[in-house]
Amino acid sequence: MEIIQISNLTKRFPMGKGEFTALKRIDLTFGKGEFAGLVGPSGSGKTTLLNIVGSLDVPSEGEALVLGNSIGKLNAKQAAKLRKENLGFIFQSYNLLQVHTVFENVEFPLLLLNLSASERKRMVMDALEWVGLTDKVKSKPPQLSGGECQRVAIARAMVKRPSLVLADEPTANLDAANSHNILKTMEKLNRELETTFLFATHDEKVISYLHRKIYLLDGKVDKDEVVTVN
Ligand code: ADP
Ligand code: MG
Repeated sequence: MEIIQISNLTKRFPMGKGEFTALKRIDLTFGKGEFAGLVGPSGSGKTTLLNIVGSLDVPSEGEALVLGNSIGKLNAKQAAKLRKENLGFIFQSYNLLQVHTVFENVEFPLLLLNLSASERKRMVMDALEWVGLTDKVKSKPPQLSGGECQRVAIARAMVKRPSLVLADEPTANLDAANSHNILKTMEKLNRELETTFLFATHDEKVISYLHRKIYLLDGKVDKDEVVTVN
């Protein structure tokens, strides 16, 4: 089943008296369980495309179907429902709640769903186990390293077992060892839970883990490369 179907998608932003075209007639399809990335230089349109897939923005022309939902046609409530039930987000800046514990940060997306406290606890502890942080449940983000913070963010993105995780430059604030660590974690979750991952990145370390690399250049798909794994 196709999880994402992008057809003839163009995105323009108002700029001064005119417009700037950030994405130009993009056609892309992603199936369930892919571990793929939008790669390319800064300004090539990676974040713009990821934001549309994440229903945080809408196409100017063309269509983005995400799990059967046409992104430009959803109202705010429908877009919020899609995000809350099916999507996980990982950002370069972690976006953790600083005064809350690791447990509370990971529990946060579950509060929007109709679950009992004991169900939430079990899901949070499972997610912390996936990222190797069960001993830090009571810590708060200021007491953690950058690598640990990003692992909390991964647990938060994964806790409800979303079908699709979107990760925008997830290693931007991490050193090499921590970058490899979180990439191995995400690869494992992709394999074991069949979660589809879509990255936006220009980090060579991330790129080396991707099973499919979509090179963007000036808002166009320059190359779409599937890596054959032996
Ligand atoms: P990348 O993530 O590949 O670095 P972006 O998708 O952030 O690139 O940006 C692509 C282009 O679109 C850039 O030239 C950027 O300046 C422009 N752009 C992005 N968002 C906006 C916006 N809200 N308004 C105007 N221009 C934007
Ligand atoms: Mg970007």
